Amino acid sequence: MVNSNRIVSFNEVSDFFKTLKALILLSLYKYFSIFVLFYSIDKEKMMNKYIQKLYELDAKLKSIQYFMNLTGVDEATIAPKKSVKGRSVALSELSKIYYDAFINDENKKLFEEIEKITTLTEDETAKFTFIKNEYNKLACIPKEEYAQYTKLETLALKSWEEAKEKDDYSIFSPYLKKIIQFKKKYIKWRGLDGHPYDTLLEDFEPGLTVEKCDTFFNHIKAELVPLIQKISAKSDFITETIFNKEYAVDKQKELSYKLLEVLNYDLDAGLLSESVHPFTTAMTKDDVRITTHYHKNAILSSIYSTIHEAGHALYDQNVSDDIGFSLLATGVSMGIHESQSRFYENNIAHSKVFVDVLCKKLEEVFGKEYSFEPDKCYKEVNISKPSLIRIHADELTYPLHIIIRYEIEKEIFEGKLEVKDLPNAWNDKYEEYLGVRATSDAYGVLQDVHWSFGGFGYFPTYAIGSAFSAQIMAAMQKDTDVNGCIKEENFEPINNWLHEKIHQYGCMKTPEWLMINSTGETLNPTYYTDYLKEKYSALYEL
Ligand code: ZN
Repeated sequence: MVNSNRIVSFNEVSDFFKTLKALILLSLYKYFSIFVLFYSIDKEKMMNKYIQKLYELDAKLKSIQYFMNLTGVDEATIAPKKSVKGRSVALSELSKIYYDAFINDENKKLFEEIEKITTLTEDETAKFTFIKNEYNKLACIPKEEYAQYTKLETLALKSWEEAKEKDDYSIFSPYLKKIIQFKKKYIKWRGLDGHPYDTLLEDFEPGLTVEKCDTFFNHIKAELVPLIQKISAKSDFITETIFNKEYAVDKQKELSYKLLEVLNYDLDAGLLSESVHPFTTAMTKDDVRITTHYHKNAILSSIYSTIHEAGHALYDQNVSDDIGFSLLATGVSMGIHESQSRFYENNIAHSKVFVDVLCKKLEEVFGKEYSFEPDKCYKEVNISKPSLIRIHADELTYPLHIIIRYEIEKEIFEGKLEVKDLPNAWNDKYEEYLGVRATSDAYGVLQDVHWSFGGFGYFPTYAIGSAFSAQIMAAMQKDTDVNGCIKEENFEPINNWLHEKIHQYGCMKTPEWLMINSTGETLNPTYYTDYLKEKYSALYEL
């Protein structure tokens, strides 16, 4: 029964308070949890908002860049001569729009907020790091200087073309002087430590320095110069009898398309046209344009230019869909990009097995009367001879052309070389390294387009790319029967290997990461020098 007047015991009081405390704690916990939940949702929302804004910025900048690149393709391929005036103004205005969209307080604040986020995914971190780095490169340049420089580049390109055509350095030199002045100011604005030329190298090849270049080029010189000298002494050992003939340009065009088909370049996501200097430009991964050039008495030039540019294009066409419309949808550095073009041009297309395929294609296009005998063709496409023009150089002497440009550029930014002295310095170095001297600047200091767009620091990446492509081939051969694939004209396994190890990442990974991921080690030039020594010793029976 129940006694209504019962005395409440001590234990019962204690239990009551315990229960009350538990209830209060439970409620507090509930409210706290709700608060934490809302706070987390809110924080997450904010974080997502910042990342969303970053992606929107990426898409906006990419859109402006898209049209600037398209104009560049138009300029080099089909634009009329007189269009330069209007284009230089339009591009200068577009560059201002790009600058304003990128360099402003809102973006500065956005980057500060993203830097505070500790839970970024790997992909978000990669995109942020890349875009922030691009921001730093541009933010240091005053807006007016940037717009003026863009205009200068357009005019300088035209003046270089005219100077080369008329063989008159004085047409180009005033523009070159201004470009170098701008680059010197840029080095100061960037404020990076080390050799002044390091800043320019960094823009094309993150992590590359004068110190690393010196070590790399010294290795090349020590390993290859003695071999080049021995081969020069046997200069008549292989003579040209097949490829020094005239070949109709329309047939050469037909051949280009056959080669692109073999390599699996997607013509639904690209276009082949003609320009003085062959190049590749990617608007997006689905629109990667390449150019080549045709000369009736230099068929090898069109063949290997087309293959070289297709190598660049395959990289850009095969980036991951996730970054298809992004600033990151391209090669992470020029060295890595060049490694892809040179892989196809040299390691693949100058090999015996590919030359066999090439002979078949040549026969299909030009008929049997030309007699494309594979052994003879293989030797002819690999003739090594010191020469004046870099883009026509063979694989073995090619790096010496780069060493010459590297040393000249380094001296310009050390303040040891003036613009007026460049033609002579150029010719002296060619005589020193290759034993040839240009009698005309068109074949000397005016031969390359790079300085007209301020591409100082670019040339070393060609040699880095060549070295890396040899390293890639060595690694790929461990996984894939490369020769078997070439023989069967089945490039899918080759392209897939590159897609998996390199192409898909675009700018999401550093050059060093890609090297390790694809070959198991960082750049090791011995693969390159061993490959060249073995190949050319056999060719010249040394
Ligand atoms: Zn290239």
